[in-house]
Amino acid sequence: MTPKIVIERVRADGVHVFLTTQGTIQLKGSPDAVAKWTPVVRDRKPELLTHLQGVAANDPAPDPAAQVADRLARGATQAMRSGTVPQGWNQPLLCEGCGAVPWGVAGTAVMCPWCWVRMDGLPVPRITGSGVMWG
Ligand SMILES: [Zn+2]
Repeated sequence: MTPKIVIERVRADGVHVFLTTQGTIQLKGSPDAVAKWTPVVRDRKPELLTHLQGVAANDPAPDPAAQVADRLARGATQAMRSGTVPQGWNQPLLCEGCGAVPWGVAGTAVMCPWCWVRMDGLPVPRITGSGVMWG
């Protein structure tokens, strides 16, 4: 299930909280962090769902997850995980989690497709003035 939108991030624990297109809550992060926060989310699920739906409804930004899902559906995931920058991703996206990474359009993001790669312990590229560097 592709998360619909990044709602909140608990930086100290590295947990990302998503409201999915199916209206459920999804956690992504290190196994320890997810294990720690899963019971908290379960206990307060109705309250958290209401909050997340309110935030999503008031988010004026275009749906970045739709763009992500579209690009990932084209096979970018495998390329990203094998150390390749998908074709056409040559613009700097300043991600709060990853730094300046290559993306289809320049911009900023709380989270990006490279975050999934990074959170799984794989290297992510950095885009610099002289090109792309991995590490
Ligand atoms: Zn990122």
